[in-house]
Amino acid sequence: MSELANQIESHLKALQLKGILASYREISNQAVKARLPYEEYLALVLEQELKRKNESSINTKVFKAKFPFVKTMEEFDFSFQPALNEKEVIKLSSCSFIEEKNNIILLGPPGVGKTHLAVALGIKACKAKYRVLFISAQKLLEELSLAKRDGTIFAKLLAFSRLHLLVIDELGYMPIPREQANLLFQLVSIRYEKASVIITSNYNFDQWGKFFDDNVVASAIIDRLVHHANIFFINGSSYRLKDKLKNIN
Ligand code: ADP
Ligand code: MG
Repeated sequence: MSELANQIESHLKALQLKGILASYREISNQAVKARLPYEEYLALVLEQELKRKNESSINTKVFKAKFPFVKTMEEFDFSFQPALNEKEVIKLSSCSFIEEKNNIILLGPPGVGKTHLAVALGIKACKAKYRVLFISAQKLLEELSLAKRDGTIFAKLLAFSRLHLLVIDELGYMPIPREQANLLFQLVSIRYEKASVIITSNYNFDQWGKFFDDNVVASAIIDRLVHHANIFFINGSSYRLKDKLKNIN
């Protein structure tokens, strides 16, 4: 490597300009061939750094969101769920629901793609630079209970309230005792009209009283969640069983 290249690379490393470090040699060679004006060359080089910084910020957001898997909206086969309003779901990809502090509720039996869609929307939100967290209802309730016992519930609720989008997966998978239901109510209340929630559940609202063990708190939670919400009832067949059923027929 020439002395000049050495110097450039050590400056780029010191300035942590990894995007330029990875691309400047190729761009320089092309610029020489194309006799690019200096300003155009500089613009190309800076663009690479910006692109890398954007990608890395999105990757960090996706990592911090703790999705159980990475599935995109583009991978969702809407033809398999014809009753689901594709246009309405795709519209949500713009993330305007987050700007409007609206919620999304995905209801339906196992395997119909509720978690897939919640993850896909969460990834769209990360790409739009929002702070997102995906958490199962069970883990969320455990964390809230623990914080209550430790005397750190206020800080915990505050941390949850800082997220632009909170995805709560599988609400109602396990019965929810009264103390946890009250904590969930507090969480839903602090986010109400301030920040968005996506909830997935195998149960329709009329069944929520069962796993909440308390109809009053169940309706108070539902009330706040649905006030500004896009609700989807996905009642088609399980995608998990798709190929298995084909083999039986
Ligand atoms: P649910 O949360 O409703 O139980 P999931 O979202 O976990 O269902 O879906 C189960 C599996 O099937 C996942 O791997 C998901 O990506 C896939 N899946 C479900 N529905 C579809 C669909 N319409 N198109 C593509 N993949 C799907
Ligand atoms: Mg699921």
